[in-house]
Amino acid sequence: MQHCDTLIAPRWCIPVEPANLLLHEHAVVVNDGRISDLLPLADARREYQPSVFIEKPDHLLIPGFVNAHTHAAMTLMRGFADDLPLEDWLRKAIWPAETRWMSAELVRDGTELAIAEMIRGGTTCFSDQYFFPEIVAETAVDLHMRAMIGTPIIEFPTAWAADISEYLNKASDLVHDPYADHALISTCFAPHSTSALSDESFLELRVLADQLDVRTQIHLHESAAEVTAALQQSGRRPFDRLHELGLVNASLLAVHAVHMSDAEIEIFAESGVNIAHCPRSNLKLASGIAPIEKYRSAGINVAIGTDGAASNNALDMLSEMRMAALLAKATAADAAAVSASEALRMATLNGAAALGLADEIGSIEKAKWADLTCVDLSGLNNQPLYDPGSQLVYSARADQVSDVWIAGKHLLDNGKLVHIDTDKLLKRSNEWRDRLTTSKHTGSNNE
Ligand SMILES: [Zn+2]
Repeated sequence: MQHCDTLIAPRWCIPVEPANLLLHEHAVVVNDGRISDLLPLADARREYQPSVFIEKPDHLLIPGFVNAHTHAAMTLMRGFADDLPLEDWLRKAIWPAETRWMSAELVRDGTELAIAEMIRGGTTCFSDQYFFPEIVAETAVDLHMRAMIGTPIIEFPTAWAADISEYLNKASDLVHDPYADHALISTCFAPHSTSALSDESFLELRVLADQLDVRTQIHLHESAAEVTAALQQSGRRPFDRLHELGLVNASLLAVHAVHMSDAEIEIFAESGVNIAHCPRSNLKLASGIAPIEKYRSAGINVAIGTDGAASNNALDMLSEMRMAALLAKATAADAAAVSASEALRMATLNGAAALGLADEIGSIEKAKWADLTCVDLSGLNNQPLYDPGSQLVYSARADQVSDVWIAGKHLLDNGKLVHIDTDKLLKRSNEWRDRLTTSKHTGSNNE
């Protein structure tokens, strides 16, 4: 008998890799935060003596969801400004509120609320773009959440940085230290969008990204208005600018990519660019629907993100995954487009690949981090149960997520957040609502 830290025995397990595999009565063995074995439960009982043995008789175990794009701290602006098109939403509501209230305190409280919601819904890794990224990283480490921290890069002053040099310097500092080779935190550059940077700044960023071997993510072709405005200003589509500047490559994560030409799709596929598909945010801001079946058949890696809670308004990867599958079928006019197992892969392993973490997370395989999500499928809404994968994608709800482990640590135990003080979160959320409401009223009086 070998000793192990934890043995998790669900009724079903979908490891995601290899594709289309559904295991019955298997156990996952966890040691030092990583998956050390995946084997039939009967064998596991004979071979292992665990410190903790967790049986989940009505449950499906999957890799934790990877939220490929969000702005975690914006949970504090959930419902703050709804029913507005993208440009008005940003310029008239979100940016004025951010200008007034941006601080390390807002980012810490908003990120904590976001992480609580994400863990509760089975997400074990999120890719973030927001101000005070060092605070986002600290908060994630404090709560034992895995995160890809995108350092914001723009050319106008904010509470975090005064000009492009300061943004790039602070970004480089964060990438260097203390998160090189951290167990939970990875870092990347996150220029907001092509309209936020000059060609010179992009070139500077590219040189730094090459030197530091760091990935880049950017909002790209989110709305038709973004593309039209760029054409008017510079005579070039945002994609063309990035391509000419040498930024279209395999370390790029293009967020949204709703409006792409066939020629652009081909270049994306050839270059190995990844796409973060954020369907609910695109619908809510009326930005359009990304033709992801087209991207997938071109061979592009498509991941799923929730975007921030100010434009979604939830950080719920289960419903985001379902939305992605349903929209793909409708836009492709093909009910076979994006099957349940493909949707789950997009929400897990494709997300890991989009962040450059496919060797570490995204599937239940030996030596990967034990980032695991367990979903209770015993509810009436999942009966009768023919196929656990189908029930997960097409009928399960986020509140059916029962357990979550990140790097082997049990963070959601039978539906309860173990390390998070939810009373404190509720109190702080109310305080921020009161503060932001004041700025909303001031803003509208000034217009
Ligand atoms: Zn975004």
